[in-house]
Amino acid sequence: MSLSYDEWAASLREGTLLGVTCADCGTTYGTPFSVCNECGGRDLDATDLPEDGEVYSVTTVNVPPVGFEGPYQVALVQVGPARVTARIADDDEVDIGDGVVLDGAMEADDGHPAPVFRRA
Ligand SMILES: [Zn+2]
Repeated sequence: MSLSYDEWAASLREGTLLGVTCADCGTTYGTPFSVCNECGGRDLDATDLPEDGEVYSVTTVNVPPVGFEGPYQVALVQVGPARVTARIADDDEVDIGDGVVLDGAMEADDGHPAPVFRRA
């Protein structure tokens, strides 16, 4: 079954990170896509991603967008076969290679939740 953005966001708000896996080439993404970036396939099925991940890359945002307090960290987190862009919990600080665990979601005024991870 495919996964819409609204379904992905609703699931994240409930504490479950979903991804999609391409039925044609097996690539897994941490956010919904309707077309596979790797092979152009359109058959992407919802898949559960693990709550545990590892920091693949991390950036500190010193000048946050309106509505956020900085500085904070944004990381690319490897969760199972997928990489997701995530916020690092405010009182935490991580480096590349650190183990992290899903710790809910953070939501801006625009209604787009982002996964939040903290040090495992
Ligand atoms: Zn594919």
